[in-house]
Amino acid sequence: MSGVSVVALPMRTRFRGITTRELALVEGPAGWGEFCPFVEYDDAEALAWWRCAREAAHDGWPAPVRERVEVNTTVPAVGPEDAHRMVRASGARTAKVKVAEKGQDAGQDLARVEAVRDALGPDGRVRVDANGGWDVDGAVAAITALARAAGGLEYVEQPCASVDELAAVRRRVDVPVAADESIRRAEDPLRVARAGAADVAVLKVAPLGGVRAALRVAEEIGLPCVVSSAVESSVGLAAGLALAGALPELPYACGLGTADLLAGDVVTTPLHPAAGVLDVPRRPPEPDPALLARYAADPDTRDRWTARLARVQARES
Ligand SMILES: [Mg+2]
Repeated sequence: MSGVSVVALPMRTRFRGITTRELALVEGPAGWGEFCPFVEYDDAEALAWWRCAREAAHDGWPAPVRERVEVNTTVPAVGPEDAHRMVRASGARTAKVKVAEKGQDAGQDLARVEAVRDALGPDGRVRVDANGGWDVDGAVAAITALARAAGGLEYVEQPCASVDELAAVRRRVDVPVAADESIRRAEDPLRVARAGAADVAVLKVAPLGGVRAALRVAEEIGLPCVVSSAVESSVGLAAGLALAGALPELPYACGLGTADLLAGDVVTTPLHPAAGVLDVPRRPPEPDPALLARYAADPDTRDRWTARLARVQARES
């Protein structure tokens, strides 16, 4: 590895309990890779994330089969006026609406989803994401009501926490079910597919070990796939786009428009979608030295990440 840069990027809003996204960028002969396992992940879990970074930096990505990828806009658990405004401002044709937020009731979800449908018009696509927040009966009731309010839902993402619950919900509703949190490691998608737990698989390139590894997973499970992010910088998002660009079929808009979640990035032109579309890059974007300096992690954080990276790399040999 010729260079490792550790940065701490400020986030616009709290996500997974963090307000700063720490990550390491590595430079290799093919370009830059991003090593960004969440801080609570152990070294065994972080290994796939390193493989994704190493592929980008050393091997490069397989050739894409499409030039552009449609992305969804994400509507957090806000009120209906804000939801309407956010969807209109995004220009996206697909909106993912967060529902089942702790401390909110079903009426708030319905009002938000109705507002999003109104903002998109009848041709737009509305999907909802419960982040595992419902039990089976609650999911069936909520999905039925939300589908009616939205005039149809594209799919419901992770209505319940467990694979068995997803399978039970899927048997009882007409709306397609997507598995997100149920797919974290490379062995998970097959378990989801075998259980009949989902119609759609949400794939994240880093925890699956890179573009080629994720393509193998997609082939193995035989479900339509949506590529989503793990709140990477634009360097890591580019790997997700490379996967979305290389998947043989891509019937749904992807969750890769997340550069907006960061208040700072490492490249001069972050991968912000224009009218709900992102270009598929042939190689990772180059970090800007001034931005690497501006967002450089403090010495303790840097030492923690370089030690972590070295331990995880050592697992490969
Ligand atoms: Mg999700």
